[in-house]
Amino acid sequence: FDSINDAIFIHDINTGEIIDANKKAIEMYGYELSKLQTLKISDLSSNEIPYTQKEALNWINNAAMNKPQIFPWKAKDKYGNSFWVEVNMRKAEIIGKMRLLVVVRDITERKLMEEALIKSEELFKKAFKTSPDSININRLDNGLYIDVNDGFCKIMGYSREEVIGKTSLELNVWVNPEDRRKLVKDLNENGVINNLEAKFKRKDGSVVSGLMSAIIFDLDSVRHILSITRNIEEIIQAREALKESEQKYRSLVQHNPDGIFIIDFNGKFISVNEAVINSLGYTEIELLDMSLWEVVPEKYRALHGNRFKEILEGKNLDEPAEYEIIRKNGNKIIAEIRSVPYYKEGKIIGFQGIATDITEKKKNLDELLTAKEKAEEMNKLKSSFLANMSHELRTPLVGILGFAEILNSELDNIEHKEMTSKISQSGNRLHQTLNQLLDLSRIESNKLELKMTEIKIEDFVTERIKLYQGIAIKKNILLKEKIVKPEVTALLDEKLFNQILDNLINNALKYTNEGEVTVEVNEEFIEDNSWAIIKVIDTGIGISPKDIDIIFEEFRQVSEGLGRQYEGTGLGLTITKKTIELMNGKIEVISKLGLGSTFKIIFPSIINVSSGKNARKNHPSENINSLLKKDYKQKILFVDNDKFSRDFIKISLKNFYEVEVTENGESAIQKVNESIYAAILMDIGLGSGMNGIETAKEIRKINGYETTPIIAVTAFAMKGDKEKMLSNGLTDYISKPFMRQEIINLLKKHI
Ligand code: ADP
Repeated sequence: FDSINDAIFIHDINTGEIIDANKKAIEMYGYELSKLQTLKISDLSSNEIPYTQKEALNWINNAAMNKPQIFPWKAKDKYGNSFWVEVNMRKAEIIGKMRLLVVVRDITERKLMEEALIKSEELFKKAFKTSPDSININRLDNGLYIDVNDGFCKIMGYSREEVIGKTSLELNVWVNPEDRRKLVKDLNENGVINNLEAKFKRKDGSVVSGLMSAIIFDLDSVRHILSITRNIEEIIQAREALKESEQKYRSLVQHNPDGIFIIDFNGKFISVNEAVINSLGYTEIELLDMSLWEVVPEKYRALHGNRFKEILEGKNLDEPAEYEIIRKNGNKIIAEIRSVPYYKEGKIIGFQGIATDITEKKKNLDELLTAKEKAEEMNKLKSSFLANMSHELRTPLVGILGFAEILNSELDNIEHKEMTSKISQSGNRLHQTLNQLLDLSRIESNKLELKMTEIKIEDFVTERIKLYQGIAIKKNILLKEKIVKPEVTALLDEKLFNQILDNLINNALKYTNEGEVTVEVNEEFIEDNSWAIIKVIDTGIGISPKDIDIIFEEFRQVSEGLGRQYEGTGLGLTITKKTIELMNGKIEVISKLGLGSTFKIIFPSIINVSSGKNARKNHPSENINSLLKKDYKQKILFVDNDKFSRDFIKISLKNFYEVEVTENGESAIQKVNESIYAAILMDIGLGSGMNGIETAKEIRKINGYETTPIIAVTAFAMKGDKEKMLSNGLTDYISKPFMRQEIINLLKKHI
């Protein structure tokens, strides 16, 4: 009794009182036997009995009625701990008396295991149910679906009920029968299949991609298949998009007109696109076996190397470098290459380069540069041609203008007088044109000397208006000034400013047939700067918008070609604009065809200058008559190889001086040695033999001629010529053609 490892209680069958208990019972419940004998069954029961009182009574009654009962029970020991027991209760005759024999086995361990099993079953059920992956169990023999989880229903679009008891073939879930065949084959051969990528048709007919793994297992000794499938539709789509974009990128790179290549650190080509292949002339296979250095000429290798070093250091990444590249056929091309480091798996393994073939561009640029240089050269030639031409034309003008003037004063016949004055007029016009040409070439060769002084604009305008009044009256045009601001002053070259006014007023009168021409003087303040404004406003023929820009171009006129309606060189405005700009000014024109034009000039003006300070000095020319008063005539030597010039000077000066002439340097020196001259007029270009400068130098050495005025008379009229002459012993300078009065004044000044 005591050796049994279960607790044994012997109860009174009627009262339920414990009559006896074995050792194990005492150990299990913790009470002494004597104490146990005072307790009832209910005292040994836990409060958390999982059964009703009624069930318990029923078991006890049945046992008492000789029906052995076995049931689980929750017991409680002396210390209040409860534990699971299995109670075996039966009626038994013990020592002649009918008793209730209760054998109690501690089943806590078993109960715990059972509970764990239930829990784990629940866990698996839950996992099966809630797995986002599709899980389905099919029988191996007939393929019928036994169970599917929610994941399956979600992915495939069927409800559990629609699937169970059917096969995948019946449901027609396989898009490619090939996939199912592979599944069956692998399961049969290996009992398992991993990561089968397959496409499935959903209930609604749409297709979904899945990654399926399946295994065979036994359940109740029947073979089943457990399949787990993950929806990889999004991954597939992303993969396809990536593939597509990769293809696109590849094709872009491949067909890019620029060469794209990848090289490793040794320069070995890793990849080249079509453009590289085409422009280098090697095949792709050849190139992939070559290094960049094989197509770069020796002298560029160091450059390339340095550039790559810079790129690794992250310097000047945006800057392209220009290199020569040698094609397979030996021809050179020039390429502009931009390179960046090339990464593979996060590591720089070389460089990726984009090469643009700029051979043509370079060639064009070179051609353009040559063309530009040529144009500049031509322009220089033009300037020098203009200078030379004007020189060559000036000399004969001396004769024409000079003799016309003399004849005019000597002739009595009115008709003849008129003819000579027409010769003078034509000569003057020619002279003016020459001056314009010369001005232009001076400006263009930067040989125009500016003598900037503060001038009061109004004074100049008033004087010019007076000068042109005659022409205006002849054309019946009202020429007037409008002085809005009388005190405006600016820093200008007097002569050039007069020329500008002449030009604009002349044009205004020339291109106006009726109405008026107004010259307006004003001052404007723009952003702290003050500007002198001079407007020449006419009511003339106007200029159409399309012609507005050409009028400032040299030799351009609105009316050109055979139908030309107005005389002129087309140089006036060109020179005007250039001289205005030289003096920091600007010119603009607003015009309406048929209504008139306004030429507006602006110069920076000088503020706060009192009018008195800026009054112009006048240089009244000396009256010829004052010279006539001299009672004896000094001797003048005129050296010139042009007979007309000699004659003109002789006649011009005969009233004032005794003029001797000679035609070359040698004879001049001879004459000087023999005679005393008050002054010498020296032409510079004397044809063959000594020129005027050399002759003057020699004359200076002659006793008594150290300080004698030697005046250059020349058609070389460019800046620098004058300095050259003066530094070579010549006293002064007069350019051809000149007026009689000018030369008289000059002689008077020096003698
Ligand atoms: P030119 O008067 O000798 O032809 P310019 O350079 O002075 O040369 O002028 C260029 C052209 O601009 C003229 O031929 C004429 O067509 C046009 N032009 C100049 N001034 C005026 C004006 N005030 N009104 C209309 N047209 C003008």
